[in-house]
Amino acid sequence: MSLTTAKELRDRKISAIKNGKFDLLVIGGGVTGAGIALDAASRGIRTVLIEKNDYASGTSSKSTKLIHGGLRYLKNFEFSLVKEVGHEREVVWRNAPHLVHPEKMLLPLVKKGSLSRLGASIGIYLYDYLAGVKAGERRKMLSAQETLKREPMLDPRNVIGGALYTEYRTDDARLTIELVKTAETFGAHTLNYARAGRPVYENGKIKGFEVTDEVSGETFSVTAQGVINAAGPWVDEIRQSDGSLSGKHLKLSKGIHLVFPYKKLPVNESLYFDVAGDKGRMIFVIPRGRAVYAGTTDTFYDDAEHPDVTRDDVTYILQAVNAMFPEARLTEADVESTWSGVRPLIMEAGKSASELSRKDELFISASGLVSIAGGKLTGYRKMAERSIDAWLELHPELTHISNCYTKKIPLVGSQFGHKKTYLENLYSTCGQIPHTHAMLDELFEKYGSDTEKIVAYAYDIYNKNRDCEQPLRQAELLYAVQYEQVVKPADFFIRRTGMLYFNRPKIGETRALLDGLWKETSGLDPVQAQRFNAEFERACEDVLQFQ
Ligand code: FAD
Repeated sequence: MSLTTAKELRDRKISAIKNGKFDLLVIGGGVTGAGIALDAASRGIRTVLIEKNDYASGTSSKSTKLIHGGLRYLKNFEFSLVKEVGHEREVVWRNAPHLVHPEKMLLPLVKKGSLSRLGASIGIYLYDYLAGVKAGERRKMLSAQETLKREPMLDPRNVIGGALYTEYRTDDARLTIELVKTAETFGAHTLNYARAGRPVYENGKIKGFEVTDEVSGETFSVTAQGVINAAGPWVDEIRQSDGSLSGKHLKLSKGIHLVFPYKKLPVNESLYFDVAGDKGRMIFVIPRGRAVYAGTTDTFYDDAEHPDVTRDDVTYILQAVNAMFPEARLTEADVESTWSGVRPLIMEAGKSASELSRKDELFISASGLVSIAGGKLTGYRKMAERSIDAWLELHPELTHISNCYTKKIPLVGSQFGHKKTYLENLYSTCGQIPHTHAMLDELFEKYGSDTEKIVAYAYDIYNKNRDCEQPLRQAELLYAVQYEQVVKPADFFIRRTGMLYFNRPKIGETRALLDGLWKETSGLDPVQAQRFNAEFERACEDVLQFQ
C-alpha cells in the first residue's frame, strides 16, 4: 500500500491551482459554493473553489440536518420557496441516497398549541401539494391515541392528536464534501484552508483574489475570468472588499442544537413541535444512531466566526423538550454535545429572526462580482444553477457551455444500486477482517459505495498486522486523507465523521487508536501538529462551555 501524505496531496493541489488557467473562481466551501463548483465544472467551466477554513466549517455543518421544504415558512406565505425546496428534496435524495433518508416526521398537536387540528391538516396538505409529494406518502392525521401509540414518551395529558408527514434527514457536512468530490470528478480544482483576501482587478473587472494558504502562511494569486462569492455569513465581507456593499445586506440569526445520549430521550422517530410559552416557535427532536438532538433557536447575532451556545440557549431547548416529554427530565448534565451556527439571511427592517425570509438573493456588482446569499441547505442546487446562469450572462466570451444538468448528476458514493443487496455483499467482502454489520452500516451511511475503498484499505492494514483490532477505523482515516482533504484532526472528527457531535465519548479512545497513523499520513511538522491538536481539544471543550 503506497500512501501519499495529506501534505503532499495538498502541495500538488496548490501547485495545480497556481499553474492552472480558470474561467471561474468560487469563494466559499459550504454547501452553496460546493454546489456552484459542481454546476460550473459539469457545464464545462474551468473552475477553482477556495475555502478559508475546512469545507462545511461555516453554517453547512451546523444546520438541523434536514432536507426539508420548511413547513413553518407557510406561516409567512412563502409559497414559492416551499414549492422549490419541497421539490428539491427528492432530487437531493435521488442524487445522494446514501446520505439523504426519507423519514416520517411526527407533529404532535397539543393543548394551547399554535396549531389546531384543522390548521395542521390544511397546512401539511398544502405543504405536500406544493412539494409534489406522491399519493402514498402524503400526510396522515392521527388521533390522540394513535399519536401516543407512535410516541409513548409524549404527555397523554397534553396531546390532542397528531400529523405524520414525510421529510428527509441528512448530514450537512458530508453532503458538502460529497459535492466537492463530485465537482472534482468534473475537473474542478478545490482547496480548503485557502482564504480569499484582496480582490484582483483588470480594467475594473474582478478577475480573482489574493489567497492565503492558512496552513503554510504563503500568499499567492488565483485568477480567472470572473468570481462568484458564496461565502455564506461572510458574503458581505467579500462584497465589502470589492467596494460593492450597498443596498441590501445580511442579517445573521443564530441557531443552536443540543445532543443527548439516545437512552436519555428514546423517541421512536423525528418530531417537530411547539415550544411551550413561545407562541409560534417550533423545534425538532431527531434521533440519530446512539444519540438524539434537539433544536433550534433563532436569534439575531453578529459574530459569524464564533457563534457560542449560551446558558439561556440551553435552558430554552431543555425547557421545550421537557415540556413535550416530561418523563425525560433532561438537565444540562445530560447534554453530550452541541453546535451553533448562523443563518445568512437578507435584512428586512422590522422583522424578527424567525420572520426573515429564507429565500436566496443574487447581488451583481459593477466589477462583475456575483454574490449569492440567503437560502437553505436543501435548495443548494437551484441556488447554484441561478448563480451560474447569472454569472454566464456577464461572460459571453465563454462559449460551448452546456445548460445546467445537476438534477441528473449522482454524487460520489451514490452508485450502489439496491441498498440491501449492496450491504449484504459488503458484509461478505469483509469476512476476514474484524468488523460488525453495524460498523459497515455506519460507514455506508457516510461514504456509500466508496465504503469499498475503505474496506480495501482495511484489508491492507490487517494483512500487514493481524493483531490490529479496528482496521476499519484506521482505514476510514486513510480514506479521509487520500480522498477528502483532511488537514487537521478537527476535519476528521467534526466534519468527515461527525464524531464530536454524535459520539463524543468515544473521541479519546479513537484518537489514541489513530494517533500513530495520523502522524504518518498527515505530513504535518511537529509545531503544526501541536497547534492543530490544541485547536481540536479546544473545540471539544467549547461544545460544553455555556456562557
Ligand atoms: P456556509 O456553509 O457558511 O459556507 C460559506 C463558506 O465560505 C464558509 O465555509 C466560510 O469559511 C467560507 N468563507 C468565508 N469567507 C471566505 C474567504 N474570505 N475565503 C474563502 N472562504 C471563505 N437548511 C436546510 O435546508 N435544512 C435545515 O435543516 C437547516 N437548518 C438550519 C439550522 C440552523 C441553526 C442554521 C443556522 C441554518 C439551517 N439551515 C438549514 C440553512 C443552511 O444551513 C444554510 O442555508 C447553508 O448551510 C448555507 O450554506 P453556505 O454555503 O451558503 O454558507
